[in-house]
Amino acid sequence: MNAEQVVNACHAAGVRLVRFLYCDNGCTIRGKLAPIDHLASKMESGIGLTVAMQAMNMLDQLQPVEGMGPVGEIRLVPDPESFVILPYAPHSAAMMADMVTLDRRPWGACPRSFLKRMIAQAAEQGITVQATFENEFSLFRPTEDGGYEPIDTGLCFSSISMAAGQDVIDDIVAAFAAQNISVDAYYPELGHGQHEMPIRHGPALRAADNQIWFRETVRNVARNHGLIASLAPKPMPDQAGNGCHIHWSLWDLEGKRNLLYDPQDRYKLSPMGYQFIAGVLTHLPGLLALTTPSYNSFRRLQPHFWSSAYTAWGPDNREASVRIASSQWSDEEGSVNMELKASDPSNNPYLALGGLIAAGLDGIARQLDPGEPALIDPGNFSEEERLARGIHRYPTSQAEALDALERDEVLMAALGPELARSYLTVKRSEYEAFAAQDVDFEIQHHIYKF
Ligand code: GLU
Ligand code: MG
Repeated sequence: MNAEQVVNACHAAGVRLVRFLYCDNGCTIRGKLAPIDHLASKMESGIGLTVAMQAMNMLDQLQPVEGMGPVGEIRLVPDPESFVILPYAPHSAAMMADMVTLDRRPWGACPRSFLKRMIAQAAEQGITVQATFENEFSLFRPTEDGGYEPIDTGLCFSSISMAAGQDVIDDIVAAFAAQNISVDAYYPELGHGQHEMPIRHGPALRAADNQIWFRETVRNVARNHGLIASLAPKPMPDQAGNGCHIHWSLWDLEGKRNLLYDPQDRYKLSPMGYQFIAGVLTHLPGLLALTTPSYNSFRRLQPHFWSSAYTAWGPDNREASVRIASSQWSDEEGSVNMELKASDPSNNPYLALGGLIAAGLDGIARQLDPGEPALIDPGNFSEEERLARGIHRYPTSQAEALDALERDEVLMAALGPELARSYLTVKRSEYEAFAAQDVDFEIQHHIYKF
């Protein structure tokens, strides 16, 4: 779609307000809105935003970041390609916006522009990335005392949990269809009130935009049903966490050949595929600060919870950081893909996917070798065996992951100085704030913000 088509579509649908949204360094979704009468001009000029917003953490505490104080402005310029009419909000539409400087360049601290840079870097190597974010989420109903309880305590994949969620799930599926987002499957998951709905893959930028629409849609449709949907990584400390595993495959520039595919290989994986895995595993300690970035994320990443906790890879190994997903009978070449388990829905999808691409491309550039696959839960190897195999426990806190990110020269260079500096400062401030409080404070804030 172009700008004119967006304006026409808004008129035809009776839209009054259009959201220009972005995902920030705290990984929350924010934005400003344009009324239909000024939509055309605001799409061209963008809506002004203070530079300070990329120094704001998820508690709305402004952090001291050089160049991101009260003086200075950027523009939120929406991408018409991302346009959706919102089926869950009256007379409303939305687009994802890029942060653009007043001299019309992508702002160095813009996460969406970072992902575009990584997509361009991959393209320079003849690679296009297809991806999707596979979310788990928790559905709660409010209780009379102002709290909440899970809508079901049913078993994993059980039809009793399907019944508990059927009305809201039906509306969520309809809302995705209305936004041209294709649902791949649905099932109740292991945790109380936990459900999962993978959506179809698409080009990397579209996949990250879809992740924003996913978060928005699930939360808003649930709200319209009087429920609370949470995509917090670990909304209930004693229940399974919410992952948002990233699936990806690498294609040639025409999108015709899956570069991960080699029919001769034991796992049908090409040398490029193995190198990409090795790059991801090499950078994983720092990458976690982008893919599992919140304080609450590290409550999820425990051994034996199917979230992954050690740097390891394996075919269909759901305790490995990177799982090679077995291909589908209907399309062996097209369906060879990899899954990063160490990712959750409290991440900024532009930073998570951009970081993943940067890590993988480094693996290809240096022709890294991921070593032997883990064919059992890596948490069940002895400590000596893990050491011999080069398998390491992840950083166990947000602070450790952020330190690893700062030490990772490849990821820091990819982010660039403005984004790296502001992100580290904002996320470290969240660590300080949550570490000083109790678990209830942590859960409350993550439940309602993700
Ligand atoms: N809930 C698990 C996680 O935290 C994933 C379970 C699964 O394999 O689907 O990622
Ligand atoms: Mg699952």
